[in-house]
Amino acid sequence: MKVLLICGGQSSEHIISRMSASNIRKHIKDSYEVKMAGITKEGIWYQINDQIKDYAEDCWLDESQLITNVFEYLKSFDVVFPCLHGLYGEDGTIQGLLEMADRPYTGCRVADSALAMDKVLAKKVFTLANIPTTPSLFAYKRYDGKVVIIRDDQTQTEDIVSEVKETLGLPVFIKASRSGSSVGCYKVTKEEDILPRLKEASYYDSKILIEKAIQATELEVGVLGNDDLLVSRVGQIMPHGEFYTFESKYEDKQSSTCIPAGITDEQAEYIRENAKKAFHAIDGHGLARCDFFLDNVTGDIYLNEINTMPGFTDISMYPMLLKDAGVDTSDLIDRLLDLAKQR
Ligand code: ATP
Ligand code: MG
Ligand code: MG
Ligand code: MG
Repeated sequence: MKVLLICGGQSSEHIISRMSASNIRKHIKDSYEVKMAGITKEGIWYQINDQIKDYAEDCWLDESQLITNVFEYLKSFDVVFPCLHGLYGEDGTIQGLLEMADRPYTGCRVADSALAMDKVLAKKVFTLANIPTTPSLFAYKRYDGKVVIIRDDQTQTEDIVSEVKETLGLPVFIKASRSGSSVGCYKVTKEEDILPRLKEASYYDSKILIEKAIQATELEVGVLGNDDLLVSRVGQIMPHGEFYTFESKYEDKQSSTCIPAGITDEQAEYIRENAKKAFHAIDGHGLARCDFFLDNVTGDIYLNEINTMPGFTDISMYPMLLKDAGVDTSDLIDRLLDLAKQR
């Protein structure tokens, strides 16, 4: 079976994608004929020589390896593993390209990817599915540059600060709607920081989610499957620093994880049930990592988000949760490729 593993990409998570892909390449079984392709931050596709260990972009910018006809190139593979996070990778766009090229691919399809990636839309769908999420507001940067809050009844207000204070109180989290790895995600404690942070988030996306900040224990669950789902145990994140920022995720050695989480069996069961519900609510395919908050003050549990192409490095939570469930990374990749061929 000829497998194409794609990494890099145009999102702010380009580098994480290369780290994930390098781990997948290391663990994929020898029975597959694997080729690698890298997408630059500008969106140019190259074939990657397999000897390049960390897939550093400057090692594969070789003109002779340029893929000039992406569509034709894709058609020469039996299955594609788009190991891409964020914009154009996890948001339904590359999935659309693969649908048009009629190639089976791992993970979620067009609509489920797009939905999960968009925190504002996902929240609406989770609410319809009766899955508890944190109280929030939706802000939108209009084409004339003005940022407005759009309420549930579709009325709008430009008086953002009052609306945030009255509806949510402080502190809040302000997040670019379609982002990942905490890029464009800020904790705001002071009233005067609301508008500047909103502006910063709007550099990443015109849609912005403003959420009540929870004093939370962070919990994550891995889901694997199309119809019959394997739902992992619940893992816990212990971020170092104020919250789980980009730095605390990938650079701070003092952040740690543990499986299983230090919660009651009842809480774990409730979270696993809701992870499954959430995966079905987006009509997910293949895999997802569902992130939850346990409110340390009230004991309430909220779904934070679903990631349809979760980090896949050797220290990433998703492969660790699956390993804990008895599926080591080589078998996990096998299962994902099988699930891709099922449809
Ligand atoms: P990922 O890398 O998991 O895809 P992301 O960029 O999609 O991350 P979130 O998971 O929504 O962003 O938020 C990043 C982090 O910010 C969370 O792990 C948590 O530490 C903190 N956070 C976000 N929203 C809240 C909230 N409402 N209350 C408390 N902490 C929050
Ligand atoms: Mg995310
Ligand atoms: Mg993500
Ligand atoms: Mg998250």
